[in-house]
Amino acid sequence: MFISKILCNGKRTSKTLTLAVSELKKLAADCGINSKKIISAEFRHCPEAEGYSARVESKKLIFGYMQEIDALYAVYDFASDYLGYCFWGPGKSVLAPASALKIEDGLLFGPRKPLIKRRGFIQEFPFNKDSRILADWMAKNKLNYLLVWMKYYDKMSPQLKQYFNVRGIEIESGHHNFSYWIPGEKYARSNPDFFAMKDGERIKPSPGKSELLLSEQLCTTNPELRREIVKRMAEYRKNNPEVKTLSLIPNDGFGWCECEKCSKFYDKNKKGGFYSVSEHVYKAGRIYHDMVADVASQLSEKSSGTNLTLCAYVNYCAPSPGFKLKENMAVHFAPYWRCINHSVGEKSCYTNSSYLKDLKAWLAAKKGGEVNIYEYYMGVNLYLSLPMVHHEQIFEEAALYHKLGVDGLLTQFHLPHWTAYGLNFYMMAKACWNSDSGKQEIDAAFNKIFGAKASDAKKFYRMLRKLQESAGKCLIPYPRALLLRTKASDYRKIHDAAKKLAAGFPEGSLPAELPFWTEYLLKFKTLFDDYHNAKAGEKEIEAFIRWCKKLKHSVLVEGKLDYLFGAWLECLKSNKEWLHFNLDWEDDYIRRHDKSLN
Ligand SMILES: [Zn+2]
Ligand SMILES: [Zn+2]
Repeated sequence: MFISKILCNGKRTSKTLTLAVSELKKLAADCGINSKKIISAEFRHCPEAEGYSARVESKKLIFGYMQEIDALYAVYDFASDYLGYCFWGPGKSVLAPASALKIEDGLLFGPRKPLIKRRGFIQEFPFNKDSRILADWMAKNKLNYLLVWMKYYDKMSPQLKQYFNVRGIEIESGHHNFSYWIPGEKYARSNPDFFAMKDGERIKPSPGKSELLLSEQLCTTNPELRREIVKRMAEYRKNNPEVKTLSLIPNDGFGWCECEKCSKFYDKNKKGGFYSVSEHVYKAGRIYHDMVADVASQLSEKSSGTNLTLCAYVNYCAPSPGFKLKENMAVHFAPYWRCINHSVGEKSCYTNSSYLKDLKAWLAAKKGGEVNIYEYYMGVNLYLSLPMVHHEQIFEEAALYHKLGVDGLLTQFHLPHWTAYGLNFYMMAKACWNSDSGKQEIDAAFNKIFGAKASDAKKFYRMLRKLQESAGKCLIPYPRALLLRTKASDYRKIHDAAKKLAAGFPEGSLPAELPFWTEYLLKFKTLFDDYHNAKAGEKEIEAFIRWCKKLKHSVLVEGKLDYLFGAWLECLKSNKEWLHFNLDWEDDYIRRHDKSLN
């Protein structure tokens, strides 16, 4: 389709509008559709409109937009709905003109606005050569938020920051960061009382090491420490004015300072919940929230316009009594080790309904602040690309979040496992805009990606979902939970189905990648069973690792494989039963799950 003239008044001053125009030109030219209905286009700024729309009048395609980013979103929606594109994976668009809607005069779509205001990813790895492809994919799927660790943000080039900014993506510099604000190497000598007390002594922070538990925490009630953090945050904002949101999140682990003052903020006998994997430690909500409230209030005076986020997780996953999320605050609520066989709203699911109860408490604590969901639509890191087919459930969850008044939906993700979880990420992006069951979006995606084999593809994903469900009523995403309770013959059937489905598709397409994933699943399951039948040991595990590393397809995150399988090999060396990651407290949960999940 050739659009001869594109009118856009704001183009000269806005890089986002310039991009919208060039993307329209390019996508139309490449799509292979020849409609006589459109010969020119115009972008119209409509300040009073809610969202964006597209219409055709006298052979002119007219996009109405409120904010500049809406103009870009309108182009991508037009490309998806009317030109047959499916932006299902980063750098992996599919073009299926046969699935495109017919262009008619009048309204094409809109006005469209999102169900969920903040939509995006949590990036737990450095920016790299793929970051531009990622930003591009996020914009095409109308995601607008990226939470990254501060150490990674600080290494971003100005050009890359602009690349994200032009695509309407806000970046929060944060995540676990006590040690960023108060690094051991800077403060250990001058301010030993900034650091947590343990067994009657101040801990000695170990620079550069991310140790678990108490070893790296702070004495959070110390007023001088709090002032220092506020000062450092204000400086950071001054040096990085484009960053609007900062986090204050404890280093990973459970421990808190045991000094007299800090000890008053928790009761060692009041433990966390089984569902939030913190029954073995005391609740730490009060001590954490007291600090966050104070820092947020000081920050609003010292550095106005700065938002502060906290995280709700493990033994501080519910708001403590009286705590309010005020105007410059947001919580990232993380249902860690949620059940992946049920959606969050499932009342009969102990784990998810417990999390939902906490979420509702957070929403009730909103006083001008915001609540974001910090999801794991990839199991968790050490679930290692085992199946989590959550397409319909994501639509259910997004609709529930919208109804409850949730402000943001973010998920952890990786690019190297897109074959395993990419459709979850894609569906999440769609679900943040869609108030129906998602059936139409899911159908459209399957038709575009799998063409004439769409219904076989649906059957294939149903088989994977059934495999998950065959593990028991509930499934917590770590390998043992799935592999111990499922049958090897099902993995073989799934692998056969993937091979059949892939036939005829070009290399690199999703259908062609699936058999590499299912072969991995089958091999992992076989190794797991052989290990339990004393037929596999170090040699076989090492051979499997070597096989995985040669797998040049988007199946696995290599570093996570090394982590988990390293733990497995360690068990063999020390003659210990392998359950998961060799953390004793975690292994205890897994032993209990062995009984309770069945
Ligand atoms: Zn203390
Ligand atoms: Zn469940």
